[in-house]
Amino acid sequence: MIRKAAQILARQAWFRKLVMSTPIVRELAGRFVGGEDLASALAAARGANARGLKTTLNFHGMHVLDLAEAEGAAQQAMDALVRIREEGLDSNVSIKLTKIGLDLDPAYCQLQLRRILECAAGTGGFVRIDMEESNYVETTLRVFEEMQDRFGNGTVGLVIQSYLRHRAGDLDRLLDRKASIRLVKGGYREPASQVFRSKAEVDAAFNRDIERLLLRGVSPAIATHDEAAIAWTLAVQARLGLGREAFEFQMLYGVRPDLQERLLADGCTVRCYIPYGGDWATHAVGCLRRIPAGALTRFRHSLHLS
Ligand SMILES: Cc1cc2nc3c(=O)[nH]c(=O)nc-3n(C[C@H](O)[C@H](O)[C@H](O)COP(=O)(O)OP(=O)(O)OC[C@H]3O[C@@H](n4cnc5c(N)ncnc54)[C@H](O)[C@@H]3O)c2cc1C
Repeated sequence: MIRKAAQILARQAWFRKLVMSTPIVRELAGRFVGGEDLASALAAARGANARGLKTTLNFHGMHVLDLAEAEGAAQQAMDALVRIREEGLDSNVSIKLTKIGLDLDPAYCQLQLRRILECAAGTGGFVRIDMEESNYVETTLRVFEEMQDRFGNGTVGLVIQSYLRHRAGDLDRLLDRKASIRLVKGGYREPASQVFRSKAEVDAAFNRDIERLLLRGVSPAIATHDEAAIAWTLAVQARLGLGREAFEFQMLYGVRPDLQERLLADGCTVRCYIPYGGDWATHAVGCLRRIPAGALTRFRHSLHLS
C-alpha cells in the first residue's frame, strides 16, 4: 500500500519538484541517483571509478508511450556510450526496452536498439538489456538473441530473474548461447502464478541459479545486496576453484556502500548501477523506502507527512 502510494507519488511532477526543493530529501535521494542529466551521471561514475567501482549508467524510466521520448532515450544511451569512451570511464550502459519504445511498436524498438548497439560496437562499449515484467520476458529474450547474433557478447548482454516460476529453462538457453548474463532475484510486483512470492523460495531459486551461472557463465554478474547470497556466491566460487576476477557483483548506486567497499577490499569486482534523468524520483523513493527507520523518519518529517 505504502509502496504503491510512493510509486504513484513519485511519478507526479509536483511531487518530484517538492522532493527536489526539500533539502534533506534532495540530499537523501541524491545518494541513490546519478543526477538529472548525463553530465551528473558521468561525474558520479567518475567518482565511483576513483573508489574502484565499475559502473553502468541507466537513463531511468520505463513504459514510454511517446515517440519523441523513446527517441530521446535511445539518444541518451548513445550519448552515454560516446562520453564513456571519450572520458575513458570504466562503465557501460543499461537500458529497458520499454524505455526505447517496446510498448509503442516492437519493430521500432528493435530498430532503436540496433542503432544503440551499432554505437556501442563503434565505441567499444557494452549495453545490458534490463529485464522487465514477466509479460515482456519472451520478447526481450528474442530481441536479445537476435542482437547477440548480430553484435556478439562483447557488445550486448541480458538480465535473468530467478523469481520467475516457469522460466528456469531461460538460463540454460542463454548459457548454451554463451550470453553475458546479470542474474537478479527479480524486482517487479507480479501475480503469484508468475513468480515465487516467499523470500525462502526466491532465495533458493537465486542460489540455484548463482551456482549454474558461475559454473557455465561467460562474464557472469550477480546483482544483489543480500549478504547471504553474496556469501553463497563466494562459497560456490571457492568450491569451483574460480578466481575472484571470474565474475562481478553488481549493486545499486548508494545502496550498502559499506558492503560495496568491503567486497572491493576482499578482491571482488563490484559494479554499481547509476540511474539518472528525469524519472529518477521513482527510483530514489523506492530506495528511500528501504533505508533505516531513523533516516526515513527524517524524510517523512521533511515532507510534513507525519
Ligand atoms: C545492479 C542491479 C540491476 C538490477 N536489474 C534488474 C533487472 O533488470 N530486472 C529486475 O527485475 N530486477 C533488477 N534488479 C533488482 C533485483 O531484482 C532485486 O529486486 C533487488 O536487487 C533487491 O533484491 P536483493 O537481491 O538485493 O535482495 P533483498 O533480499 O531484496 O535485499 C537484501 C537487502 O538489500 C536491501 N535493498 C535491496 N534493494 C534495495 C534498494 N533499492 N534500496 C535500499 N536497500 C535495498 C534490502 O532492504 C535488504 O536489506 C537489479 C538489481 C541490481 C542491484
